[in-house]
Amino acid sequence: AGGEDVEIREEPVETADGTPIEVAANVGTQADLAPAADRGADGIGLFRTEFLFLDRQSPPDEEEQYEAYRDALERFPDGRVVVRTLDVGGDKPIEYLDLPEEENPFLGERGIRRSLGPDADLFETQLRALLRAAGDDAGGKLSVMLPLVSTVEEVREAREVLEAVAADLEAEGVDHVVPEFGVMIETPAAAFVAPDLVEHVEFFSIGTNDLAQYVMAAERGNSRVSDLGDFRQPAVLRAIRETVEGAEGTDVWVGMCGEMAGDPELTKLLVGLGLDELSMSAVTVPQVKRAVTETTVADARALAKRALAASTKAEVEAVLTETTQ
Ligand code: PEP
Ligand code: MG
Repeated sequence: AGGEDVEIREEPVETADGTPIEVAANVGTQADLAPAADRGADGIGLFRTEFLFLDRQSPPDEEEQYEAYRDALERFPDGRVVVRTLDVGGDKPIEYLDLPEEENPFLGERGIRRSLGPDADLFETQLRALLRAAGDDAGGKLSVMLPLVSTVEEVREAREVLEAVAADLEAEGVDHVVPEFGVMIETPAAAFVAPDLVEHVEFFSIGTNDLAQYVMAAERGNSRVSDLGDFRQPAVLRAIRETVEGAEGTDVWVGMCGEMAGDPELTKLLVGLGLDELSMSAVTVPQVKRAVTETTVADARALAKRALAASTKAEVEAVLTETTQ
């Protein structure tokens, strides 16, 4: 459904019983920025920085990145812009980076693994640009997010780099702010250690595209195994529950920026699972906002409880259709 008939809500929304749910947009190219604002997104829940590095001979320098991040922030003066650090490897190759030949690139050097390894220089430059953009008063609030985290050590190490970058900027007298800091939960390992990760971050954002792939051992985009890699698989729902439970009782907020977040048929379930923020391609923002306003947290929780008790994908689907009729 294109959803052209759904009202565009510029304001943040809450459930029918008053719980605010942030509805944000994913941005994967420069051209995604305008629609994100036009369709009423509260902010950007996933700014995929890969596009800044693609289709060119060398990486963008600090200044170019600073301007791109500031641009995004200025579109959302009252919102939050979650910028993900470079996520290459796996299905995201970049020629000048000279990525290794790997038998299983999805299980190899990708995301944060490269940023803490061969791409350390790029990581530092990107963080400098991000901390400078965060210090810019004109725009919204910037958050930094790490991709493909699987251990506490990775987060600690990345945080040390961030602090070293802040210290350098301070010593140079360059304006900056240390931004909100979070991680994507897109490996089963991250979901399992969520209760340990909370000590090192301010937020989680669940990346269901990769999480489903890794939980189910079913390659994303491979149609032969798409039934296994489905978000409605009980094991995927339980990985989401683990993540939310890991953050319970802490100040860590939990969002979702994988494609699952953009399906309005799943909004009630996601509210019931305890998500605080949903981020998706701009096109479905109005439908998801509407779905948020149409449920109460109590109803949503009851639905989530039943979905989590299901032992097959078919049972999960049955639970979901019961309630949409
Ligand atoms: C995800 O894995 O769900 C995600 C949002 O990141 P990407 O699709 O860019 O890997
Ligand atoms: Mg991912």
